[in-house]
Amino acid sequence: MRFDGIHHVTCITADAPANVDFYTRVLGLRLVKKTVNQDDPTVYHLFYADEDGSAGSDITFFEYPNARPGQAGDGMVHTVVWRVGSPEALEFWANRLGAEGHEVEADGESLRFANPEGLQHELVVSHVADEPLVAHHPEIPREVALWGFEGVRAYGRASDDFLTALGFEQEEGRWDTRAETRGGWIEYAEAPHVAGVGGAGTVHHVAWASKMEDQEAWHDRVLEAGGNPTQIIDRFWFRSIYFREPAGVLFEIATLGPGFTTDEDPEHLGEKLILPPAFEHLRERVEPVLTPLPDPRAGWAKR
Ligand code: ZN
Repeated sequence: MRFDGIHHVTCITADAPANVDFYTRVLGLRLVKKTVNQDDPTVYHLFYADEDGSAGSDITFFEYPNARPGQAGDGMVHTVVWRVGSPEALEFWANRLGAEGHEVEADGESLRFANPEGLQHELVVSHVADEPLVAHHPEIPREVALWGFEGVRAYGRASDDFLTALGFEQEEGRWDTRAETRGGWIEYAEAPHVAGVGGAGTVHHVAWASKMEDQEAWHDRVLEAGGNPTQIIDRFWFRSIYFREPAGVLFEIATLGPGFTTDEDPEHLGEKLILPPAFEHLRERVEPVLTPLPDPRAGWAKR
């Protein structure tokens, strides 16, 4: 068994309106699900992805309006790495982000920048044949758009035995995992000499993609490898197992289905607050306390 690369990366924001603006208007992703954190339904869980809400392109945020700025440290993912199609795309993004007032750092086939709360992102030119996962945006042509995740960079010491047991293969210092649909990796580096603090602008966990039918087997595999997995939790749009790998990074294994279009028309993903059926009874309580968020595509001309 191997993972089909990264399923999603979940992070923390203290400012949902600015977060929506950055990921949809600036980076050109689509808000594909506006829902609540199933472990704390009084706060948002926002999902951004390609046009179809595909695993492999899905960056998500828990909104804690009073969260203090965090700091990536030991046992935390510190950078989310995205694919683009060409060096010209890197140039496009250097210009676009620069015009928005974001500092960018170009280095060969890579471009680094941070989101408004300091979460590090990196764009790299893709050298794999995986399908580009692209969202529509009126100012961002498909050729230069983000194409989904390439990998994540974390602080800590990689556990060879554990990662190998989970089907990762080490290649040039990276732990790579690839199955039928896609591939992705995690790279570890020594932590800076400051303590990590979860908070706004940090990564909460990284989820690896599994086939629906493999989820039980993955649960057992994590146990056999010495991990301490949760039971399989039904997140409605996918099923999940959570555990910390030995370096301390919170991993999730999430299924490639059923997906975000099970309860919303694909044409209208993300426009309304969606609660899974088990949470619908909370709507009257949670809707008034959530920060109002506009539909990011409301101003678009009819396509
Ligand atoms: Zn998750």
